[in-house]
Order: sequence, then structure tokens, then C-alpha cells
Amino acid sequence: MRTPHFQRMRWWVGAGATVCALFVGNCERNGDTAESPATQTVNVQKNATCFSGENAYTHCAALCKLGPRPSGSPAYAAQLNYIAGQLEDVGWHAERDTFSPLSGIRMTNLRATFGDKRTARPVLVSCHIDTKKNGENDILGADDGASGAAVLIELARTLARTPELARQVELAFFDGEEALGEHITEKDGLYGSRYDVIRRGKQGLPSCMINLDMVGGAGKVIGVPIMDTTVEMCELYCRAVRELGLPEERWTIHLGSYWDDHRPFVEAGVPTLNLIASFAGSRWWHTPGDNMHRISAASLAESGTVTLRVISLYLADKKSTHQSS
Ligand SMILES: [Zn+2]
Repeated sequence: MRTPHFQRMRWWVGAGATVCALFVGNCERNGDTAESPATQTVNVQKNATCFSGENAYTHCAALCKLGPRPSGSPAYAAQLNYIAGQLEDVGWHAERDTFSPLSGIRMTNLRATFGDKRTARPVLVSCHIDTKKNGENDILGADDGASGAAVLIELARTLARTPELARQVELAFFDGEEALGEHITEKDGLYGSRYDVIRRGKQGLPSCMINLDMVGGAGKVIGVPIMDTTVEMCELYCRAVRELGLPEERWTIHLGSYWDDHRPFVEAGVPTLNLIASFAGSRWWHTPGDNMHRISAASLAESGTVTLRVISLYLADKKSTHQSS
């Protein structure tokens, strides 16, 4: 059954079908495997011609193998090395921003670009990589933490195969999304993304931002928060879902707003798309149940493919607007 709000989105999108001529169409994989020198124990299909859910799953498992990764922990530092190594291995430049949002707490965001560092990137794709600190029982955060990073790492490999596209995208892995208290509020949580908006200043903001959070659960239902989303970004999301033939019951919108890493960018006037799975009322969220058992390669592949399609559609739209003006 289609949700009424999704039908509303379809109404916005209108009847015009768009064929995306960019590289995110049907893909086949070859069987080459290679071991990354950055992480000797991880084997991924480096020559896969498009986004590989299996590769993303491998990265998700590798991050979880480090254990819970709350801000400031040795496991958090180890995952920064892992992510930077994987990105550099496929030609991206990784950079760390360390900051202290509260006295006695140091946090580190990781950002990555492809090609000339001085060029502005219109599209920012982000996720958070800290996991929720939960007393004695810190959680592994396979979905709430590792899944977004896993998709971004595989996205980097896929984009690097089309350098002109990769050069228009920046990747950001934020620290401190999780609140120190129970829930994210205006003052607690989103430390990395809040810092990043301030660090960039008005001139350094991207033209749009896509944030991924909890995007690897098997059978997940994505609910894009409509109150935080511009009509343009909503239309692109709908077009991507429709063109990829994904089930509209699982790629929906949420009739509200979320406290997530897109929020500081929304407040700074950046059009955002927050791809986030439904989690309220779930049994796994912020519990030890958030482990690799709930992750699927197919789910990660869907999330990566939708992200790629939205990036491609956004850039194609901007190009045609530019040419016709
Ligand atoms: Zn969380």
C-alpha cells in the first residue's frame, strides 16, 4: 500500500519522466578482488563497475569489528584510520578536523575530496561515525553509525571511476552526532555537523547536502523528513526512487522533522536530503541489538544507489539550468 504522503510527493514530481544518462544505470560486476594495503584483512571488489552492496557490507563489518566507537575512544581513532585508508586507496584526499565542542572533549570529523583540493564541491554527502555511549553497555552501532560510513566508503570507490563526477562531491564523516544525554536536543548532539557549518562559513557551504543515517537494515523503511526537505530535493528523491524501481512502501517520507546531521545545514539555508530509516519504537535502536545481524548487503546497495542517482540528477539539473540561462 502506498502511503498518502508518498503520493503527495509523486504529485509534486509531476508526470515528466526523466532518463538519467549518467553512470548509475544497470551494472555488472567482474570477479576481481584485491586486498587494500590500508587494511590488510579486508577484501573488496575494487573493480566492480557500480556500487557494490557486498563491498559496503564488508566495510560495515570491518568497522563493527573494532567494537563500539563512541567519541574519543581508541576504537573511534582506529575507525578514522580505516576510513581514511580506504578513501586514499581509491584516490581521495582525506582530511581531519579536530575540535573541542565542550571542555575536556575532543572530537574529529573526517572529510574527503577527489582531485584539486581548491575547487568548491557543490554536493556534500555525509554520515556520522560515532556510536551511542550507553554506560556499561556501549552499542556496536552497525546501523546507527557504521552503515552510513560503509555506504560512503563504497560511494567513494564508485565515484572515483567517473572522476568528473567525483570532483563535484565532498564526503564528510561526522563525530559527535549522538547526544551525551539520552536524546539529541538543540544543545546536545550534532557536534560534528554544527562545527562543520561554522568552520565552512557562509561562502564554504555546499549547494546541497545528502545525509545518510541507519541505511543498512534489512527491509528498512526510509522516511525522509518532509519538514527539513526542500521541494527540489524531494523531487529528486522521488525521481531516483521511481527510476530505480524501488518499492515505494519502503522509500517514503516522514511527515515531520528530525534532529540529525542535516539540521545545522538546513538552519544555514542549505537544501538537504536526510536518508534515514524509521527507528522510533524499534527494539534495536540504541541497544546491543544494533549489530551486523540486522544489516544486509542488498539494503546497503539500495541506499548507495539512491544516493548516487540523486547526486547525478542534481548535477544534471544544475548543468541544464546553467546552459539554458
Ligand atoms: Zn543514534
